[in-house]
Amino acid sequence: MGKITFLGTGSSTASPVIGCKCRTCKSTSKYNKRLRPSILIQKNRKNILVDVGPDIRHQAIKFNINKLDALIITHAHFDHIAGLDDLRIFNRMQNKPLKCYLLKETLKEIKKKYDYMFEVNIKGHTQSARFDFQVLNEKKLSFKVADITFEGFTYFQDSKKVLGFRVDDFAFITDIKRYREKILDKLKDLDILILSSLREEPTPVHFNIEEAIEFANKIKPKMTYLTHLAHEIEHISTAKKLEKQKSSKNIKLAYDGLKLNF
Ligand SMILES: [Zn+2]
Ligand SMILES: [Zn+2]
Repeated sequence: MGKITFLGTGSSTASPVIGCKCRTCKSTSKYNKRLRPSILIQKNRKNILVDVGPDIRHQAIKFNINKLDALIITHAHFDHIAGLDDLRIFNRMQNKPLKCYLLKETLKEIKKKYDYMFEVNIKGHTQSARFDFQVLNEKKLSFKVADITFEGFTYFQDSKKVLGFRVDDFAFITDIKRYREKILDKLKDLDILILSSLREEPTPVHFNIEEAIEFANKIKPKMTYLTHLAHEIEHISTAKKLEKQKSSKNIKLAYDGLKLNF
């Protein structure tokens, strides 16, 4: 059995948003306090981090993450990679580079944004590699972490290609807007689908709630958990709305700290 922990379920600004006085941002409910999006997968004593936003230090301390066996990066936007630098602590603790699975397009962008991480020689000191990059491309999208098999697939957020994956009967899809119908074949008979949905209003680069419901209903997993939620989504009232609608009976909002078994 595996375990999923939601380390963060917010959008790129998280919530509360700096300076915002909206209902969600002023709320004292723990369900409305969202860090940047990330999950931890634990299976067979392996810890696998999915995405590493700017809140990773806080998340690692809050959820007591002292060991990482692998990192999966879905794409190279700020809210998914801005914490890369903070992972060097794991290099020190584990004394080796961290295995990192990502698309070749994503690695190219990371090399541009974090050029210093790839310098071998800094002022005469040899810098040991922080990451052991395992590059995935359309011909090879599946990979194994120890004996755990991840079946990868891709879709799009505007023009950017994003990596999603399935492990056993659980699938993870974030920052999706456009996709080819053939990915639905990989998503049959799921127990759990984690899916991003930004807000109720339509947005150019994310599913809104309606689009997420429509997508989930094509796949029909036993349960769908929505994440990457912007502050326009107030947890308690939206959760009630989802519960009432027939089309979203098996769809819930995720929240920071939620744990699921798969
Ligand atoms: Zn707000
Ligand atoms: Zn994002």
